[in-house]
Amino acid sequence: MALNLIMLGPPGAGKGTQAERFAREYGLPKISTGDILREAVHSGSELGAAVKEVMDRGELVNDGLITGIVEERLNRSDVKPGFVLDGFPRTVPQAAWLDTLMGGDRGPLIVVEMRVPDEELVRRVQARRVCRVCGTNVSAFGTDPTRVLRCQKCGGELMVRSDDNVEIVRGRLRVYWRDTRPVIDFYSGRPTYRVLDGSQPPEDVRRALIDAVQEVAAAAGVVAQPGARA
Ligand code: AMP
Repeated sequence: MALNLIMLGPPGAGKGTQAERFAREYGLPKISTGDILREAVHSGSELGAAVKEVMDRGELVNDGLITGIVEERLNRSDVKPGFVLDGFPRTVPQAAWLDTLMGGDRGPLIVVEMRVPDEELVRRVQARRVCRVCGTNVSAFGTDPTRVLRCQKCGGELMVRSDDNVEIVRGRLRVYWRDTRPVIDFYSGRPTYRVLDGSQPPEDVRRALIDAVQEVAAAAGVVAQPGARA
């Protein structure tokens, strides 16, 4: 059965970083709706033009548009062994839509919520840089904001995301509490739901994430082993 993981949590909780590492270790595709939308904006596509302004304001793009993108992505063949979803679902209608799509033989959804206090999130997001080329997130805490930083993976220039300034981040947190917190209520009664303390050091979060997924997967009869999945 497929290993399907959803990472929930506010902006700056570390979802992207943890999703990336988990996906690499378990040989699964990481699907980040934020990355897909940012790529569309950078490529100057019609989709990008339609979502740029909404993203820059820190608001959510509409459900129909995002579910269309996710449906197309989840129907590709690399998703057969499962997936790691980062940044989706963000509203209850998106979560309900995903349940319908997952019906049948796609396997259970393992849902992990990462909790971090709001003030820590604001601090983290202000320090965040993202590689213009490969999308890797890096914390540049304490570095001079005018200094040009390079990605250690690919050498690309590290940028500040246009929606990572303090005011917009506070707005994104309000959007999170308003629209995405109900998604947690949507999932929290399920046996496949777990909460992690995302304020721990990244290596401890990684360990806790693996333990949570292993435990839920074992109970659900899903094989969860590091390495490539057939
Ligand atoms: P993220 O990188 O996950 O913080 O996403 C960046 C921005 O992309 C968000 O602030 C939204 O504007 C948009 N976005 C990403 N995922 C979704 C989603 N599932 N639903 C609506 N908007 C989204």
